[in-house]
Amino acid sequence: MKFQQVYAVVDSEFRLLWVGGEWDEFALQNAAQHALANHVLSTSLLAHIAGEETRELIASMVGTVLKTKRPLRMEYRCDSPNMARAYLLTIQPMKDDRALMVHDLKDAWHFSPPLNRWNYDPQARDCKCSFCGDIRFGVTQEWTSCDDIGDRHPALVYYEVCNSCREAATKVVEDVLRGDEVSLALDDDRLSEVRQARDHSE
Ligand SMILES: [Zn+2]
Repeated sequence: MKFQQVYAVVDSEFRLLWVGGEWDEFALQNAAQHALANHVLSTSLLAHIAGEETRELIASMVGTVLKTKRPLRMEYRCDSPNMARAYLLTIQPMKDDRALMVHDLKDAWHFSPPLNRWNYDPQARDCKCSFCGDIRFGVTQEWTSCDDIGDRHPALVYYEVCNSCREAATKVVEDVLRGDEVSLALDDDRLSEVRQARDHSE
């Protein structure tokens, strides 16, 4: 099953203080079977992200929100073999040098034919972009979208970040540093929903 919505609260050292929503489905989709909710609290968010560059970009996004106290948003994909799924990640400052990360499902469509199933393997030959799911085969330079990949999705992949996602991630960080207005995915109703869920879980 794919998640619809996931919340996490991290501190300035990226420690997970609280997770909510469909965290477990989220963890499983991100090839982190050891990262189920019960086991992750007070561990580092970064320890659960595959791929060095992905970790660096996420750290830079969260760090920028903490530093500027301004929100940041970025779209990404987290597909299953059957379904393409587009998510919006919102990172929002909270008091006491904490940040709230919210992953919202925005859109989904079927792959036809379905993709081959894949597993994470740091030694794999083929690479998958952590943000958009595009595939780079072997040592080629080209990235192929899963929307166009048909039955050619590799069974084993390692994770990196493709050029256009690197540019997009760098740009959202720069926009926040510059103070450009970011409209919030979270309205007040949603925030109070999050707080209630958190209070309930404590
Ligand atoms: Zn990408």
